[in-house]
Amino acid sequence: MKSVRECTYRYALDMETLLWTRGPNFPLSQLPTRLMCPDCGSRRVSLVYEVPSNPNRATLASG
Ligand SMILES: [Zn+2]
Repeated sequence: MKSVRECTYRYALDMETLLWTRGPNFPLSQLPTRLMCPDCGSRRVSLVYEVPSNPNRATLASG
């Protein structure tokens, strides 16, 4: 049986960079569907918003 390694790769996403590359009307909910984890190749990437202290940051999490 092949065991799947749990991937904990995370990436802090800079919202400002996203705006510059995707434009202000880009639907953020669609972002994870276009991404692949560079570490494990998983397409199950989720976008995790960080809370109030830094609302312009979000983190991409794979696995
Ligand atoms: Zn991964």
